[in-house]
Amino acid sequence: MTAKPRPLVAGNWKMNGLKAALGEIEAMARGCDAALRARVDLLICPPATLAGAAVGAAGGLIAIGGQDCHPKAAGAHTGDVSADMLKDLGAAYVIVGHSERRADHGETSALVRAKAQAGLRAGLVAIICVGETEGERKAGRTLEIVGAQLRDSLPEGASATQVVIAYEPVWAIGTGLTPTAADVAQVHAFIRAQLGQAMGAQGAGVRILYGGSVKPSNAVELMGVANVDGALVGGASLTATDFLGVAAAYR
Ligand code: PEP
Repeated sequence: MTAKPRPLVAGNWKMNGLKAALGEIEAMARGCDAALRARVDLLICPPATLAGAAVGAAGGLIAIGGQDCHPKAAGAHTGDVSADMLKDLGAAYVIVGHSERRADHGETSALVRAKAQAGLRAGLVAIICVGETEGERKAGRTLEIVGAQLRDSLPEGASATQVVIAYEPVWAIGTGLTPTAADVAQVHAFIRAQLGQAMGAQGAGVRILYGGSVKPSNAVELMGVANVDGALVGGASLTATDFLGVAAAYR
């Protein structure tokens, strides 16, 4: 039997943060004591411009990740960042397929899979985001959409520790709205079953994060749902107080 996955609380800073914001990462590192770190992995994904300095600010206590990567390791791709570059600066994770990239840049699940594969090749853990829009939920298509994104974005042959799935209903991101605990439980159980089909026994060990308006006041309830192995946090990851407040759900 595979052990329950170790939880992960991951912050996605999106296009936020100038050099002064590194002080928040230093404060997070000061605030995450050994007791907390024994229970949960912590990760901040700052903008690429801060990622190298963030590794130093985190002092090895909080992992640093990228928010995206190019599917290729190097080449003529102006403005892009490769997974190998992220690995080289000390990152351990990369987010791929965030709904903002799927929407703003027309990223397909095939491209997301190629990016996840690039992350794995570089030695990074790929956090693969999936989630339905409000219209898709209202039309009763949540599991169909999440299932298709998962099937088409998951790299073949990945092991449990190489990938993390983040279920992020698009309508819950940055809106203050969250699904009910029962809705989260239904989708996470579905994802767990799909992972089992795709990965066999490895599927039980993959961390499935919930993301969408997670904050200190709702983290205990959301993190307590079956098959929720942590959170992907946007707005509430920008300050040490809020980020540690979310992580405190695992104290
Ligand atoms: C996100 O950016 O992935 C996210 C979940 O944002 P927020 O927590 O602000 O809803």
